[in-house]
Amino acid sequence: MVSLLRQRGIQNPALLQAFSDVPREQFVLPEQLSSAYADSALPIECGQTISQPFIVALMIDAARINPEDHVLEVGTGSGYAAAILSRIARRVISLERIPELADLAQNRLQAGGYDNVEVKCCDGTLGWPQAAPYQAILVAAAAPEVPRTLCDQLTIGGRLIIPAGPDPNHQQLLCVTRTGPQQFKEKILDQVRFVPLIGEAGWDEED
Ligand code: SAH
Repeated sequence: MVSLLRQRGIQNPALLQAFSDVPREQFVLPEQLSSAYADSALPIECGQTISQPFIVALMIDAARINPEDHVLEVGTGSGYAAAILSRIARRVISLERIPELADLAQNRLQAGGYDNVEVKCCDGTLGWPQAAPYQAILVAAAAPEVPRTLCDQLTIGGRLIIPAGPDPNHQQLLCVTRTGPQQFKEKILDQVRFVPLIGEAGWDEED
């Protein structure tokens, strides 16, 4: 997995170490075990997916996370990206809207000893203001547009990494940096396809 990420241009040593430390096979369905180390997204419970490792690496790399950082993830899914984040940040709060997934991920993370991760079951489009601000926010599901609520939970200098765009089948992966209280700078990182972000500042469930 690590050599695969290196080949694709990921150089950050702390990030590569985290990928080598976290066994992805503990986060995939039993029938997907043989594909656990392939660089592809895989189906998980409740019709959701565990993201492609390269995309997880790209997002975390772009978030420029330091060991002292307080990080918010929206879309816990299997808990895999939260586990990787826990290895490079001080504290991780991960939000998941589907109770069954939140419980499964919380149990996996606890069993794996990822003690600095907290999973909350809620609508992550609203963030988690109780523990804001965050140096980095990573969104693992596709939003129709960048939710302002999440931008407002960044520190000045903080980074929001989010797939966004009006087409449910194709998004731009964006890095939004908060440069001042009301100032934000946006950069396009890649073209991607994520499962939808469903909630108040996301897509309607019926869509
Ligand atoms: N990071 C995950 C992949 C997540 S897939 C992993 O490593 O496995 C995206 C997840 O976002 C799904 O589990 C989906 O249920 C969740 N999601 C979608 N809309 C959400 C919302 N408004 N709040 C929280 N989670 C949401």
